Amino acid sequence: MTDQTYDYDVLVIGAGPGGYVAAIRAAQLGLRVACADSRETLGGTCLNVGCIPSKALLHASEYFDAAANGAMAKMGIKVTPELDLDTMHGQRRDAVKQLTGGIEFLFKKNKVTWLKGKAAFVDAHNVDVGGQKVSAKDVVIATGSIVTPLPGVTVDQKVVVDSTGALELAQVPRHMVVIGGGVIGLELGSVWRRLGAKVTCVEFLDQILPGFDGDIRKESNRIFKKQGIEFRLGTKVTGVTVSGDTATLTLEPANGGEATTIEADCVLVSIGRRPNTDGLGLEAIGLTPNKRGQIETDHDFRTDVDGVWAIGDVIPGPMLAHKAEDEGIAVAENIAGQHGIVNHAIIPSVVYTWPEIAGVGLTEEAAKEAGEVKVGKFPMAGNSRAKTNHEPDGFVKIIADAKTDRVLGVWAIASVAGTMIAQAAQAMEFGATSEDIAYTCHAHPTHSEAIKEAAMAVRGKAIHV
Ligand code: FAD
Ligand code: NAD
Repeated sequence: MTDQTYDYDVLVIGAGPGGYVAAIRAAQLGLRVACADSRETLGGTCLNVGCIPSKALLHASEYFDAAANGAMAKMGIKVTPELDLDTMHGQRRDAVKQLTGGIEFLFKKNKVTWLKGKAAFVDAHNVDVGGQKVSAKDVVIATGSIVTPLPGVTVDQKVVVDSTGALELAQVPRHMVVIGGGVIGLELGSVWRRLGAKVTCVEFLDQILPGFDGDIRKESNRIFKKQGIEFRLGTKVTGVTVSGDTATLTLEPANGGEATTIEADCVLVSIGRRPNTDGLGLEAIGLTPNKRGQIETDHDFRTDVDGVWAIGDVIPGPMLAHKAEDEGIAVAENIAGQHGIVNHAIIPSVVYTWPEIAGVGLTEEAAKEAGEVKVGKFPMAGNSRAKTNHEPDGFVKIIADAKTDRVLGVWAIASVAGTMIAQAAQAMEFGATSEDIAYTCHAHPTHSEAIKEAAMAVRGKAIHV
């Protein structure tokens, strides 16, 4: 039942994958919906400056690399690639244009009103959107995240760039220093390494990819090193000065010791992202973010303020587009009086490098803290499809409860690990044991057979090793 006392039943603030999905779902459920965003185009960080443009460059640079590094020659295709960076950027912009336009089409189709402008709360049911007063019975905060700044370092988007600047470089840097060996550093560092830059990655921790399984972190590091990325692990960047087109970075061992310097013509600051509540006027509704700047919600995505809900990067949990999307569907269903839920224990993570790196559920380290486990591992070198395709690197690892055999975590490094991990997530949603996966028929020859073999290895029964 819609409420005519308000302009809208639901106002969603932010049109990223959390917000636009919430808006469409709420409209599908018969509610009158508006979605406000301060950008010129819909789709938020993900479509405009995140997932999509980075994948466009990763995909194109992967082809360039395959031609340049001899991978194509190995299959009898002799080519000498020539980089046309303008065209590569053009196809990236085109992908973004098509997909952001696609959301505009979906808004029209579902009768979601798009309000262009910065939104700020007046009270819990009234919001100022770029000077226009809008009232709604329920308001969903889906304002996403922004780049975490490195104290004392100015991002000029010329020599010192963040992820948005790193997508737009007009020429290939001679030497790119990536600060932070997380997902953004490795994906965008890979793009520019493939296109000819020397890349050095400086990581504060003693290993890259925090949050990933220990074996996966170690093996990924080995593969990236083999590809030519240099790593300075256990090292923090304490300062960057720029003179002309050269940056000088000061590096210090994370556990103390003498500082050294390193020079670069491009520095990518990728040390994380933080929740975005800037200018949202949360004080007007008495809502205070937690110490990490996140808006806390209950399991249904309700905040402490009646009628105000929050989803996506702005609330606790992994900052991932698919997590935001699922929360968008759930919050809309909850507002409509249904029972929307998200299982936060089963959210896959994928790094879209070559090979891809993916995981879902617990790491071996976390699973062992909770109890006794059995682990099955299968190398991609033993998988017929990967071997035929000249993709020997990587493995699949399955962690199962030692007593119940229930699968607790699945991790993979493989060319198509991002696609493979979906079956693991689905199996885990259904409460699968490793035996369930081992006795599921997998098509041959596919990379996914490595998941079956890893499941067989949990009981020491893999065939092809
Ligand atoms: P966002 O997408 O950040 O959208 C929030 C929107 O709200 C923005 O458009 C913002 O302008 C708007 N907004 C904020 N405040 C206001 C206001 N007061 N008024 C009006 N509008 C406002 N995730 C993946 O899962 N896979 C990937 O491959 C991946 N790649 C990434 C690559 C890069 C380079 C980056 C930076 C991120 C990547 N991410 C990826 C993360 C992903 O982009 C985010 O997790 C996702 O966009 C979060 O969605 P959201 O809806 O919560 O917020
Ligand atoms: P991140 O948290 O993944 O990695 C940041 C890294 O920087 C950490 O390893 C940290 O130890 C290191 N670091 C922090 N301060 C440092 C310093 N002073 N010197 C050296 N190292 C330092 O952050 P990110 O890579 O910026 O990505 C941000 C978010 O975007 C992530 O939450 C990620 O989920 C999301 N994202 C996802 C994808 C994907 O799903 N494929 C791609 C890109 C971004």
